[in-house]
Amino acid sequence: MLDGHEVIVCDNFFTGRKSNIEHWLGHSNFELINHDVINPLTIEVDQIYHLASPASPVHYMSNPIKTIKTNTIGTINMLGLAKRVGARILIASTSEIYGDPQVHPQAEIYWGNTNPIGPRSCYDEAKRLSETLATAYNQRENVTISIARIFNTYGPRMHPNDGRVVSNFLIQALANESLSVYGSGQQTRSFQYVSDLVSGLKRLMEANVSSPVNLGNPVEMQINELALEIKKLLPNSRSEIVFMELPRDDPRQRKPDISKAEELLHWRPVVPLSRGLRRTLEYFKQEIDTN
Ligand code: UDP
Repeated sequence: MLDGHEVIVCDNFFTGRKSNIEHWLGHSNFELINHDVINPLTIEVDQIYHLASPASPVHYMSNPIKTIKTNTIGTINMLGLAKRVGARILIASTSEIYGDPQVHPQAEIYWGNTNPIGPRSCYDEAKRLSETLATAYNQRENVTISIARIFNTYGPRMHPNDGRVVSNFLIQALANESLSVYGSGQQTRSFQYVSDLVSGLKRLMEANVSSPVNLGNPVEMQINELALEIKKLLPNSRSEIVFMELPRDDPRQRKPDISKAEELLHWRPVVPLSRGLRRTLEYFKQEIDTN
């Protein structure tokens, strides 16, 4: 929108919220369609960002069949639309396709270690198939595709109840409740601020790269360290750290190798965790005050 594009947002609000796009409603370049991508869609567009799908473990596990349909039938519908109107299409894939990785950090050439029948499989395997579908449409039907493997991302407008670690810890710390560390907290993640992801997605859409590209922040940390970082951000909070059961198949380590994005897109994240967390904290404070 800020670059002057006409934007059509298509959402079924399974996990999204109208309040997140409220400020664009009524703008002459903006249109909102309440639609589920598992049903075909006929519109005229030049570019498609196929971002549909619940993405937090709590949400995608709450309705695994819906998650699978969105990332398979929904992806076929979006690829079909791209083919019909000659649009470029970017598919949102995920670091989850690497499963519980045995190679560290994860580069795009690594095939991953996923459990096809585990609790996370509805997301992991459906996203893997999404990549396969896009590649087939590219090779057989000449559709111009991009595949973004998105690593853990956080920032303002996250759903307060989506169960992800950053939103959980911030909300718990604001409410003086215990910070819920799952397992020993020694598992690692690498957290990317949302504006960095958006700039990466835009660059990838414009680039002529049809193979998958990792988009994430390579600064890796233990979940315990994240909890301490958030306690530091809210020094007056009375929250303590508590250890809870580790969910099954929770990946033990995750860190993107972003050399490909650096080389081909001239992209790398620029927002450090401390700044990103402060901005996200401000957002959740406002959310709590207004609700
Ligand atoms: N986690 C945690 N406490 C929470 C939520 C998550 O310790 O309240 C852990 C979770 O077990 C995982 C990591 O934080 O190891 C990241 O979880 P999240 O759900 O944010 O994303 P994931 O990378 O698992 O998709």
